[in-house]
Amino acid sequence: MASLCRQIIRGNALKGVLLNSARRGYADKMMPDPLEHATGLERKELLAIQSGDDDPFNMKVLKKAAGTKANPTLVPSCFDARIVGCICEEHSTAISWLWIHKGQPRRCECGHWYKLIEKTPL
Ligand SMILES: [Zn+2]
Repeated sequence: MASLCRQIIRGNALKGVLLNSARRGYADKMMPDPLEHATGLERKELLAIQSGDDDPFNMKVLKKAAGTKANPTLVPSCFDARIVGCICEEHSTAISWLWIHKGQPRRCECGHWYKLIEKTPL
């Protein structure tokens, strides 16, 4: 009781009450975890990202490998074929589109080789 009286006199008790109410107000305004509300593909994507796969649907631009026939750029796909856009020159404004099929490496008109590799679906 004596320490409580000392805190009141020093104003510490009032600071504590103010801090606690401020924290409680912040907690009430926080958004819920999006994983709790996500369903379907969005949920699968969030779970994959959470497990460390930052590109679960292979939507990021691939960095070109050497591009030779012996060392082609590997393109992952869950299907037997995939369309690839090749930016043949660094500052080119046009994209060369080509289909690549499983087991058949393909050469772009610029001379770069691509090969389809199998990826397990989510
Ligand atoms: Zn090309």
